[in-house]
Amino acid sequence: MADKRAIETPFYLCKEKLLERNLKILDDIQNRSGAKIILALKGFAMWSTFALVSKYLKGCTASGVYEARLAREEFSRYNRDAEVHTYSPAFKENEIEEISKLSNHIVFNSINQINKFLLKAKEYNPNIHTSLRINPEVSASPKDIYNPCGLYSRLGTTLANIDESALNSLDGLNFHALCEQNVEALEEVLKVFEKNFSKYFKNLKYINFGGGHHITKKGYDIEKLICIIKEFRLKYQIDVYLEPGEAVGWETGYLESTVLDVFENGMPVAILDTSAEAHMPDTLAMPYRADVRGAGRSGEKKYTYRLGGNTCLAGDIMGDYSFDKPLKIGDRVIFEDQIHYTFVKNTTFNGIKLPSLVVERVDGSLEVVKEFGYKEYRDRLS
Ligand SMILES: *Cc1c(COP(=O)(O)O)cnc(C)c1O
Repeated sequence: MADKRAIETPFYLCKEKLLERNLKILDDIQNRSGAKIILALKGFAMWSTFALVSKYLKGCTASGVYEARLAREEFSRYNRDAEVHTYSPAFKENEIEEISKLSNHIVFNSINQINKFLLKAKEYNPNIHTSLRINPEVSASPKDIYNPCGLYSRLGTTLANIDESALNSLDGLNFHALCEQNVEALEEVLKVFEKNFSKYFKNLKYINFGGGHHITKKGYDIEKLICIIKEFRLKYQIDVYLEPGEAVGWETGYLESTVLDVFENGMPVAILDTSAEAHMPDTLAMPYRADVRGAGRSGEKKYTYRLGGNTCLAGDIMGDYSFDKPLKIGDRVIFEDQIHYTFVKNTTFNGIKLPSLVVERVDGSLEVVKEFGYKEYRDRLS
């Protein structure tokens, strides 16, 4: 299919050319720093692009058995050496066999979980690598909801809870302390992490620096990141992993919708066939304002509208945006940069139709890779 106008809205459109641009930046970092970079599926799991992604990244990081299976089935099919790393705040007894068999690396969250599952994991998969997620207790994460090192955090083991004998059987340590941050934030975390935990490095093969590195955003100091990783590897003679999600999907496409109605209630209001609540959840959770193509801030251009979704939630509002021309029913409205943390989080709240997934292949052709209908709504309920 070549004509975007013929595709029914709403849909997410991911451009492989933009994705490849990000992947090449990440690959350059791998080549020059010696780190391995794996994709955090939690942020971007459009597996119809994995033929491309797997050319550059070394594998995936999974948050549980379903993501691990997706990595094994849909990523490894293009790259037999792809690594599957699986971390969960707590593994369940009835999943540990499948997770161990699907994974090359298993990352535990606590000493309890190591004591409970490490030997089992090795029994099910004698080649599995094991790691513990550390909570370095430093983070400059901009929002509490995204701060893994916040007060009373359940994510990772703190220094006070380290049990040295449990560490002896591990191959690595993980930390994940950042969210949309530049390299200076990583430096801060590393300073404390090294001070408190480097004494445990001697028998380890790797340290995983987690995600939240905003590497593909304009202005990220890639040279400094490379420098830091190289120094770290040299100093401790140890491998380094990064596992970004957002940086992979960053600015690789958009969410396209149609104006269904326009009316006045103190100000002009437009209703779209998409939803902030169901289809752009981080805009409400973080919250942040998505850019709309061709639009400005409220009052910046001649015609301002409050853009809202097509659910019954009063707060299902994308924000106030201004346009050069009045919005008309049937106009398309495009929300920029809606590929990471969107369709992986979508819900069928209100029975609203899930946006289709469209890929613009490297050769420019458009492919509707997934459409959703009533069936997907019904089958999640009973
Ligand atoms: C979410 C998460 C990531 C990816 O984070 P991004 O901000 O998308 O780069 C990596 N590792 C862990 C453990 C995570 O929870």
